[in-house]
Amino acid sequence: MKLNLNIEPLENWLTAKNQPLLISGPCSAETEDQLLTTAHLLAATGKVSVLRAGIWKPRTRPGEFEGIGSIGLEWLKRAKAETGLPTAVEVANAKHVEEALAAGVDILWIGARSTVNPFTVQEIADALKGHDIPVLVKNPVNPDLQLWIGAIERINKAGITKIGAIHRGFSSFEKSSFRNEPMWEMAIQLKTLCPELPIINDPSHICGNRELIPYISQKALDLDMQGLMIESHLDPSVAWTDAKQQLTPAAVNELMERLTVREPESQNEAFVDKLAELRKQIDKIDDLLLQKLGERMKIVEKIGEYKRDNQVTVLQVNRWDEILKKGTAFAKALKLDEHFTEKFLELVHGESIRLQTEILNEGKATQEGIAAEQHAEVKA
Ligand code: PEP
Ligand code: MN
Repeated sequence: MKLNLNIEPLENWLTAKNQPLLISGPCSAETEDQLLTTAHLLAATGKVSVLRAGIWKPRTRPGEFEGIGSIGLEWLKRAKAETGLPTAVEVANAKHVEEALAAGVDILWIGARSTVNPFTVQEIADALKGHDIPVLVKNPVNPDLQLWIGAIERINKAGITKIGAIHRGFSSFEKSSFRNEPMWEMAIQLKTLCPELPIINDPSHICGNRELIPYISQKALDLDMQGLMIESHLDPSVAWTDAKQQLTPAAVNELMERLTVREPESQNEAFVDKLAELRKQIDKIDDLLLQKLGERMKIVEKIGEYKRDNQVTVLQVNRWDEILKKGTAFAKALKLDEHFTEKFLELVHGESIRLQTEILNEGKATQEGIAAEQHAEVKA
């Protein structure tokens, strides 16, 4: 079901100086000189559309630098006057909103640690009532699409129609190369539910390091995201926050030059025909795959009944091990990605287990459990 939001198209409220649309600036405003020098260097690239800077910083541990505070708004005002760049800051409560509005900040954003809390988002929404200012909503720290949507809805209900989402990745228990797991499917689901909502990608907070930023930026553009928010500092090595992930303005310029901007559609007739033909082939194969999965599950049901009648457990670890080994070896020969194959086999095997559990316990009081598990899997 589509979301019922009243959103103005991005081009109504944000003029892109260049493609892709870029919001850049330091993680934190530190000193007037740092902010102004960075702003001038960014403006000189001609590729930056908005200057960002954190004034109030949500930090994991107390005692770390918590933002320069209201004085930074004066510096931003000066940066805007000198460079002509519109400005953006993070707001996390009503007081921040009031101060930012009074200082003439052009765009506000809600940080990931605020989006998780409906009380905070509602407080911000209430403070925004009666004002006409663009608001960007970062995804919540945890991968919960409903929380992200809820925050966007609260802001929209307050009368704000210039809204965008920022995809900055999600915290995960598992260690990975990313500071925050991209979980692209979350952003794709949001876009599917609300196609008119612009989504801007934040490679800086996804990566947590400089090295992976080009890869994530290109992927975001290839997934048709509307722009990028990238942290930059005149000397990242001495940045007071997020030193590992900030880029110099020169590196931002170089990154933008290397990115390939592709069109979401092509009007070229030959291309359109060829694509339609290839998609038809894929659809046919997908039908066959589903048909085969249906056949497979019918056999699984028979196995379940057989195990039930012979009082044998659902799971035989050796058997699963064998499926996995055989499957991944075959997939390798077919040049299929190993990780993909493993995930696919796990999903199929998980469904077999679920079906057999149902059959083994037919008529017993486990139906709620099975339903709960099914629901959990769908959610995941
Ligand atoms: C930031 O943009 O500097 C920031 C604090 O980001 P996030 O809310 O995504 O952690
Ligand atoms: Mn940051």
